[in-house]
Amino acid sequence: MKTGTNHYDVIVVGGGHNGLVSGAYFSRAGARTVVLEAREKTGGAADTSAPFADHPEIRVSTYSYVMSLMPGAIISDLELRRFGYDVSPMGPYYQAHPDGRSLTLWHDDARTYESVANFSKKDAEILPQWEAWLKSVADVMGPLLNHVPPKLGSFSAGDLIDQAQTLWKVRSLGARGVADVTRLFTMSATDLLDDWFESEELKGMLAANGVIGTWAGPDSPGTAYVLLHHSIGDIGDGKLGSWGYPQGGMGAVADAIRSSAEHSGCEVRTDARVARILTRNGRAEGVVLESGEELRAPVIVSAVHPQIAFLRLIDRQELPGEFVSDIERWKTRSGVVKINLALSELPSFSANPGTELQEHHTGGMALSFTPDYVERAFQDAHMERRGSTGPFVDGCIPTSVDRKLAPDGIHVFSLFTQWVPKNWSEEPHREELEAYADRVIDIYDGLAPNLRRSIIDRQVIGPYDMEQELGLMGGNIFHGELSVDQLFHMRPAPGYADYRTPIRGLYHASSATHAGGGVNGIAGWQAFRQAQKDRAIRRS
Ligand SMILES: Cc1cc2nc3c(=O)[nH]c(=O)nc-3n(C[C@H](O)[C@H](O)[C@H](O)COP(=O)(O)OP(=O)(O)OC[C@H]3O[C@@H](n4cnc5c(N)ncnc54)[C@H](O)[C@@H]3O)c2cc1C
Repeated sequence: MKTGTNHYDVIVVGGGHNGLVSGAYFSRAGARTVVLEAREKTGGAADTSAPFADHPEIRVSTYSYVMSLMPGAIISDLELRRFGYDVSPMGPYYQAHPDGRSLTLWHDDARTYESVANFSKKDAEILPQWEAWLKSVADVMGPLLNHVPPKLGSFSAGDLIDQAQTLWKVRSLGARGVADVTRLFTMSATDLLDDWFESEELKGMLAANGVIGTWAGPDSPGTAYVLLHHSIGDIGDGKLGSWGYPQGGMGAVADAIRSSAEHSGCEVRTDARVARILTRNGRAEGVVLESGEELRAPVIVSAVHPQIAFLRLIDRQELPGEFVSDIERWKTRSGVVKINLALSELPSFSANPGTELQEHHTGGMALSFTPDYVERAFQDAHMERRGSTGPFVDGCIPTSVDRKLAPDGIHVFSLFTQWVPKNWSEEPHREELEAYADRVIDIYDGLAPNLRRSIIDRQVIGPYDMEQELGLMGGNIFHGELSVDQLFHMRPAPGYADYRTPIRGLYHASSATHAGGGVNGIAGWQAFRQAQKDRAIRRS
């Protein structure tokens, strides 16, 4: 094996958190590894930045904002806590209503009962059963996130064994459980919630998890699964569906992974955009950077969007036609707009007044009044081709528990919002985005009348910005929609959901693979494991 400066055992393309996780595992296994990141910094969508020119002391989680689905094994294998990974649980889910009432899903069952009973006593009584049901499905489906999807439909001996192993994993579902899972995969979040509850306000709150990052409203079939996907993680505290704020913002998670990788000898290069992945006779050989520099390795891990990896960086002639068509048809729309506000004081909601820190400030503060409200937000963008007049928002204030982000007294309001038209990824739409952000702020201001006047500065990031800056094609936050036709053995293409690709030695580790999206590192870890299984890792 050659050992020149440009010869490595493993090259990772893309320094988002998945690329860094992969790099860390490979280097820990003794492989000479380099991670190549196009931007001036690593982390991708797991990023902390100081976007306000006049207030460089205020930092925000630029894109992703809360943690949940990262397996404990990755956290401990990479010793992430030692390198600064520190996640604090979010507070309760809170929804203020224009009529002056509020609904809060506390971590305490008795308090939740009391709050929900103000809207429906029947729902308050049934909510614990819903949670138990969700947990029973999550207990079976959750571990599948760490399972390599089998090649369904293949009759080769190895693939049949994989299929049998998958079935074995879900054996505890029983006939009833299989029906439940089938429902989850095929139903809309609205229909599922209608089966359980009567209060539109409670259903609106629960529907939020069904639409995060999807190009679909809660009435669309398949959104019930998204609801489950966002409810099966935890932050290592064993509490189903718990989410948390990383101290120092989401960039601190990526920094911890990078430090772990570098500690084990992984080289991490920024400003190193890959222009080509080199292949010969169906085997990966190396990469060429935009600068013209060539790097060689027998193992390449792609941790970038599949349409970048397979349609831009690799010569299509090298790939099977069917695979190219699948990647071309990959659905990657979203209509997400991230708004980060710097505030001089906490919002004082009319339903629960006061600018002093209260429990509801530490959790999610959504604009998800009812399923109809959320569906309308989607239809505005989908059918009316305009930014929603009443956007859906998942809002939270990380500075309520993370004082590393801003000076005392200053807060950051993170607003994950949907939807704008899917083709806004093609043009900046700057003025329309600012008008859309004004509408979001107006709605919050109607609930918390001090909000608008407390805004020190704001950052509005649309689908175009996300595509241009990070390579999130179409602005989709997960490198591809979490729709039923793009899950498990179909993610990102039938026959290639095992983190392998049609090119030998080339593995895929982005959020477009099974278990993506989210800042969970699973794809980066699985790509390493598959390379290990293939005995592809050499050690210089
Ligand atoms: C607005 C927003 C909110 C979100 N909220 C959450 C949340 O709260 N919680 C959660 O768990 N998930 C959230 N997500 C999803 C999550 O952030 C992503 O699924 C995850 O970060 C993707 O990680 P990745 O490493 O696979 O890819 P990315 O983070 O996209 O990283 C890919 C990297 O590859 C680089 N790159 C691209 N092309 C090249 C090239 N040619 N050469 C070299 N490098 C290249 C990019 O610059 C980028 O750094 C959110 C995402 C967004 C955008």
